[in-house]
Amino acid sequence: MPEGMPGNTDKANETALVNKDNKMDIVIIGGGIAGLWTLARLRNLGYQAILVEAESLGCVQSGASQGIIHGGTKYALSGKLTHSAQSIQQMPQRWKACLEGVGEVDLSQAQILSEHQYLWSNKSLASKLTGFFASKVMSSRMQHLSSDEYVAPFNQPGFAGELYQLDESVLDIQSVIETIRAQFSEFILQARIETISHSLRNEESGAINTYQIQSADGLNIFAQCIVLTAGAGNEKLLASLNLKEPEMQRRPLLMPMLKAKESVLPRMYAHCLGASALPKMTITAHSLSAGVDNQKQRVWYLGGEIAEKGVGRSVEEQTRIAKQELQSLMPWMDFCQCQWSALAIDRAEPKMPDGSRPIEPAVFTEQGIITAWPVKLAMAPIMADKVLAEIENLKIKKKTQSVFFQNKNAASMTRAKTTQLPWEKVENWL
Ligand SMILES: Cc1cc2nc3c(=O)[nH]c(=O)nc-3n(C[C@H](O)[C@H](O)[C@H](O)COP(=O)(O)OP(=O)(O)OC[C@H]3O[C@@H](n4cnc5c(N)ncnc54)[C@H](O)[C@@H]3O)c2cc1C
Repeated sequence: MPEGMPGNTDKANETALVNKDNKMDIVIIGGGIAGLWTLARLRNLGYQAILVEAESLGCVQSGASQGIIHGGTKYALSGKLTHSAQSIQQMPQRWKACLEGVGEVDLSQAQILSEHQYLWSNKSLASKLTGFFASKVMSSRMQHLSSDEYVAPFNQPGFAGELYQLDESVLDIQSVIETIRAQFSEFILQARIETISHSLRNEESGAINTYQIQSADGLNIFAQCIVLTAGAGNEKLLASLNLKEPEMQRRPLLMPMLKAKESVLPRMYAHCLGASALPKMTITAHSLSAGVDNQKQRVWYLGGEIAEKGVGRSVEEQTRIAKQELQSLMPWMDFCQCQWSALAIDRAEPKMPDGSRPIEPAVFTEQGIITAWPVKLAMAPIMADKVLAEIENLKIKKKTQSVFFQNKNAASMTRAKTTQLPWEKVENWL
């Protein structure tokens, strides 16, 4: 029994405490990709599961992600494609099946922004890396393009580098979230969970774990199992249970973004390779609501080294540096008509001894509480597999007769909506 948790109370008290109208098999806390994917898997398997999200679905990391379904190139480039991390190679195929409506989660209504992510480098770097690109580890997932196959914005006389096409699609993450929400909206509540407590309850089959979750606005639910998929919020929820493990780390980013009319910024999905063999810049393009002149606008969102190195800079400084770097990487383009901003955001992950980037999804079970971080959006399917395995280990039964949503209070609870994406929230573009 964890410190600070109530012990086994007598049966009469428990019956009063555990109102049958508020019982679920499993409660998932946190509605980013991790929680939504888990909810979809559990409900498809017949569990009475609900998800509780504090604000809007995807409003922290998932909505701020670049939507790239990595196939391992990034790890291979940095020499981290170990045997255990090779499962990421299956991610493009697993997501593809979902997008075609034949996978484990139905994403048939989600939008693909690009079938491929590209990788470009200047001539001198490319020649150094040719051997690597041709190596067995990369050859199936990467294709060298000849100049007549170049896509915009590389199909310009000013581009003098090498271009590769990767087996990595880029998704419109808002549509992914909305597609899952629409299928399970009844089971997705909006409430910020403040406390979780635990007790043992006697049933005919023996004593079973019961968890009670509560929000400030009166949500009160009992469940056999709790899954924490609250990203950075997991830390506080674990503390409310007096659990010191698993520990979490945050790795901050300052992501530059620029917007302009679609005619100025073409569609663009590419990693720019620097000397370190880690992307100097990872660029994805996203559409934005029309401006005052009613013309369609596009955003370029910049990740990679620029976002990591920019931490600690002001937004003004970061956007000035991003503009300079972009101009020197793409001298044939003109960024003068663009407006700029930057998003400060932390990646929330399991703590690594040296603070480095974890390469696999992490799922821990401590005293019956399952805590999960997917580490990458693309790896949500593997993370959910691991959560399901833990649920089987815990012998959670599909047994709750769900009267929860017939309960008047629950029926009138607010359902969580899908978030706006970061560029839609910027108030002052520079
Ligand atoms: C800038 C950026 C770009 C990225 N790009 C990519 C990419 O291109 N490809 C890729 O594979 N990965 C990418 N990642 C990583 C990926 O976004 C994350 O690994 C993934 O989104 C984490 O999902 P999550 O559901 O665990 O967390 P989150 O998306 O952060 O969701 C956690 C949710 O829990 C809710 N919550 C917190 N506390 C509570 C509480 N007490 N009660 C109820 N709800 C609560 C929050 O409101 C939030 O909605 C990127 C990350 C960042 C930051």
